Amino acid sequence: MKQADLIRCAAQRGERLGKSQVSQYVSGKTVPRRDVMRLLADILSVDAAWLAGADMQGACAKGAGAGKAASSGGRASARREAARRGPSSRDSAHVASQAAAPVPSSSVSQRSIPMREFKKSSKLDNVLYDVRGPVADEAARMESEGLRILKLNIGNPAPFGFRTPDEVVTDMRQQLPECEGYSDSRGLFSARKAIMQYAQLKGLPNVGMDDIYTGNGVSELIQLCMNALLDTGDEILIPSPDYPLWTACATLAGGTPVHYICDEEAEWNPDLADLESKVTSATKAIVIINPNNPTGAVYPREVLEQIVEIARKHQLMIFSDEIYDRLCMDGIEHVSIASLAPDLPCVTFSGLSKSHMIAGYRIGWMILSGNKRCMRDFVLGVNMLSNMRLCSNVPAQSIVQTALGGHQSVKGYVAPGGRVYEQRNYVYEALNAIPGITAVKPKAAFYIFPKMDVERFNITDDEQFALDLLHEKRILITRGGGFNWGKPDHFRIVYLPRMGILREALDDLADFFEHYRQN
Ligand code: PLP
Repeated sequence: MKQADLIRCAAQRGERLGKSQVSQYVSGKTVPRRDVMRLLADILSVDAAWLAGADMQGACAKGAGAGKAASSGGRASARREAARRGPSSRDSAHVASQAAAPVPSSSVSQRSIPMREFKKSSKLDNVLYDVRGPVADEAARMESEGLRILKLNIGNPAPFGFRTPDEVVTDMRQQLPECEGYSDSRGLFSARKAIMQYAQLKGLPNVGMDDIYTGNGVSELIQLCMNALLDTGDEILIPSPDYPLWTACATLAGGTPVHYICDEEAEWNPDLADLESKVTSATKAIVIINPNNPTGAVYPREVLEQIVEIARKHQLMIFSDEIYDRLCMDGIEHVSIASLAPDLPCVTFSGLSKSHMIAGYRIGWMILSGNKRCMRDFVLGVNMLSNMRLCSNVPAQSIVQTALGGHQSVKGYVAPGGRVYEQRNYVYEALNAIPGITAVKPKAAFYIFPKMDVERFNITDDEQFALDLLHEKRILITRGGGFNWGKPDHFRIVYLPRMGILREALDDLADFFEHYRQN
């Protein structure tokens, strides 16, 4: 049977088939719609599923002389589909079940065209976010079976009893009716004014209202900046360990994250020689996370000055993530690196997720400062991306002014006697009392990044360690590798739970390490 015969047969049945349509089916360029597939199967007296490419081994040909022309088209498209999908046991099971069980013709036509599989973008191949990664998935699976898991993996204050200040909640409730529309894409005037005043107090130079952007958390703004700045192949210096979103967003944007080492022996301050040795002609920017997640380090002014010097020498932008800047302990004053670099292009990030314990409202901001002339084009990119997302969550913007002004309840948490302060002291002492574990005392935030003696515990795989701890003690931590730390010898604990729970957790950890040897 020729293609023209197919068209004629269809016309005899009162159906229209175009010549080019049929030749496209035959060449395998397009797959016929279900009704067309049914019509073709009818004309050719073959099974529609077989015609669509399912390997039905004898279950297919209802009549002799099944049309070669049309069937080669159907099978070609099926092969194309199979090649696109790749080998998969799910596919063969699907085909086998089709072959084994004949189904009514109406449902055959429903299922006759195998649906292609949708794979994630290869852009995600090198992207990692283990704070909520495979070990956290295993914890969720265990919870679904009714087990109780202590989650020390994520810095989410509210579940541990850190409540949003009442005044903030009251003010949001009151303003809610006025927050129904989109705001200016950078944010409400009142929010940006309060952020600008905050920037003034921190000594950020050359900041106007248009240099402030609110975001759905700092997270959105990190992503936005990486997309606005990085071309394929551009390098950006990011600390190791880092808050992994930075590396993930730089990678997704097509850039190349280059990690500089933060030195545990030097209270986790950046190793400046390592940092400078990694600058190349492709380097565009330095990221610092200060105060640091996961180490709890706060960089002294002298260290910041030297980073500025390196940025100045090599003409680099500075991105400074300061979301924990109001959570410093031991009387340490936080210095914004941008305040030391009036001649350099700087972007400073902060928000209310941590200092105001309202991670769920999703409000953060970034401030452009210093040399804005040299980042004019970058700013055009930022504006374009900011406009494209319309604006950040408006109810959350409406409480920025309240949150940043007046009494700061967070001060009580980080002062002696406060929860964060006392919990930090306890966890630090208890970890260092465990044979084979050492930890630098965090100066800010609510994380600690202990080191394990890998020889003593025979640890070669930190994800396996995290899984072993989860299975044995039902404690969920994040492995050091999740923070782009190169060796399997660290993990991060979030010390937000109340003292009683922390004591239990640390007893369990001590018990675990007493006998743990990785297989
Ligand atoms: N930056 C750092 C260093 C963080 O630790 C976090 C969250 O843990 C974020 C940014 C994200 O903050 P946000 O809740 O504002 O998106």
